[in-house]
Amino acid sequence: MTQNIISGKEIAEAIKKEVREEVERLESLGVTPGLAVVLVGEDPASSVYVAMKEKAAKSLSIKSRQLTLPEDTSSSELEGIVAGLNADPKIHGILVQLPLPKHLDENALLSCIDPDKDVDGFHPMNIGRLSIGSDDAVAPCTPAGVVELLLRSGHDPEGKHVVVVGRSNIVGRPLATLLTGRKRGGNATVTIAHSRSEDLQSITKTADILVSAVGRADLIRAEMVKPGTVVVDVGVNRVVDESNAKGYRLVGDVAFEEVSQVVDAITPVPGGVGPMTIAMLLKNTVQLASRSVGEGDKGY
Ligand code: NDP
Repeated sequence: MTQNIISGKEIAEAIKKEVREEVERLESLGVTPGLAVVLVGEDPASSVYVAMKEKAAKSLSIKSRQLTLPEDTSSSELEGIVAGLNADPKIHGILVQLPLPKHLDENALLSCIDPDKDVDGFHPMNIGRLSIGSDDAVAPCTPAGVVELLLRSGHDPEGKHVVVVGRSNIVGRPLATLLTGRKRGGNATVTIAHSRSEDLQSITKTADILVSAVGRADLIRAEMVKPGTVVVDVGVNRVVDESNAKGYRLVGDVAFEEVSQVVDAITPVPGGVGPMTIAMLLKNTVQLASRSVGEGDKGY
């Protein structure tokens, strides 16, 4: 029986409080942290995420600028907009909401963002910085949120075997990088599993901490975890639910009802990793604003 549902929502609120204090401190130095969020097209999920990010930024007095561009925006137009934001001293963090429409090359576009304003940490330079454990790296928000959630809920990954299911560039791989690093929240032993992994259950059963970042409802079942495991569910999936006004509800990758009976602690969906991603975005924004005036990281 689960003793512990890890509330990402509560932990995210605590982080936002700290970020607010940092915003006030920077304001006293004459710096208002500025975040630009670029949305191309009208993908409904992306529009919701962007609106949530903007609302959260405003609630902490971070200056947020949203640029909504039509679906048929060309790569040169988009690169021009990013170049303008790179040059704007009031903007400290630039986020281009993914996925981009199919005709745009995501990697090429992410490479146009000034690495020191790359608030999502997806620029190749920041991926490299993260890999070598450099202090000026920007940690991608969701992986950083997972690590922070583990630490603040009393589940330090140090020395533990963490199984990460999913190897995307935005979640699985950078998470493994953070967990295997030497910094706070690192020093874990990590296994990455993916769609080509054979006998997933035999791998997940060895986890002290299991993170699923796949995007498939009910992928992780009770028989796939051992008692005492800590489970972090990154997945966000829509399942049909006629009782819901929207006709669907959001669930994670983990069959919550049955898995929560076996494990030691588990994050819910919604209310787990999602709020942490937004909190870390805000934290990264103020961190970049602080660096822009020559300060090192405060470690707040
Ligand atoms: P991707 O689709 O980019 O990656 C999914 C990964 O899962 C791939 O590595 C894929 O393997 C692997 N996979 C697919 N099927 C299986 C399977 N049956 N068994 C094992 N592994 C499998 O997704 P993202 O990383 O972008 O996102 C993952 C999930 O997390 C999604 O639900 C997304 O919505 C959610 N998400 C949530 C966030 C939040 O803030 N809560 C933020 C970002 C994402 P392969 O590489 O072989 O294809």
